[in-house]
Amino acid sequence: MIVREIHPRSILSRSKVLDYVINPYIGCQHGCTYCYARFMKRFTGHKEPWGEFVDVKISCPDLLQRQINKTPPGRVWVSGVCDPYQPLERNYELTRKCLEILVRHCWPITVQTRSPLVLRDVDLFRRSDNIEVGLSVTTADDGVRRLFEPCAPSIKERIEALEELHHAGIRTYAMIAPMLPGAEELPAALGGKVDYVLMDRMNYHYADWVYRKCNLERAMCDDFFASTGRKLASDLAGQSIDCRVLF
Ligand code: SF4
Repeated sequence: MIVREIHPRSILSRSKVLDYVINPYIGCQHGCTYCYARFMKRFTGHKEPWGEFVDVKISCPDLLQRQINKTPPGRVWVSGVCDPYQPLERNYELTRKCLEILVRHCWPITVQTRSPLVLRDVDLFRRSDNIEVGLSVTTADDGVRRLFEPCAPSIKERIEALEELHHAGIRTYAMIAPMLPGAEELPAALGGKVDYVLMDRMNYHYADWVYRKCNLERAMCDDFFASTGRKLASDLAGQSIDCRVLF
């Protein structure tokens, strides 16, 4: 893993998904096989494989403090092209420092991660009156997770994190995206742990080789996503969980 500390010129960026996005890191130690964020390599000159480099935006809290004073408030997505709670965050605490600033200024926040490290910051989340915390949970089958997301935390850890957050009074959501084989079993596991679910299909081809290598081609076709999406929506409704389908 190649880790570099860098000094960016900006940290709070306009986003097409929410009003703003903050990425304290470039690159991601989770290195998911399907990750669309690998396009960042083009902009940063990295030649290493995705998942084998991280640029740490070491000055991002100071930068955010300056930028926030000159910017109209809006909802901030943390993060869009990295996992804000990837293992390096344990020591650098850049995500936490940025969230502290956002909470202090009463900005609405949407956190999205695959890591139970997010539980470290429950005290901070409790100080915000407009924060939601989501964990991406792509399948209920940890064997499938290991094929597609070998360096990311287990599904069990993610669901337990959602449960703990929810019981702490934090608004939570699960992001079933991309929908992997075994996602059908998630509604039962998510009941009572989330306020809502977002769901999307696989929209990129980076992991086609994984489907082929593991004889899972049936799960990369339109029929799989349509039928699994319908089943998930129906079973989530049965658990009284609001579901938003993004495809
Ligand atoms: S955790 Fe998110 S940003 Fe990181 S590699 Fe996986 S999909 Fe990409």
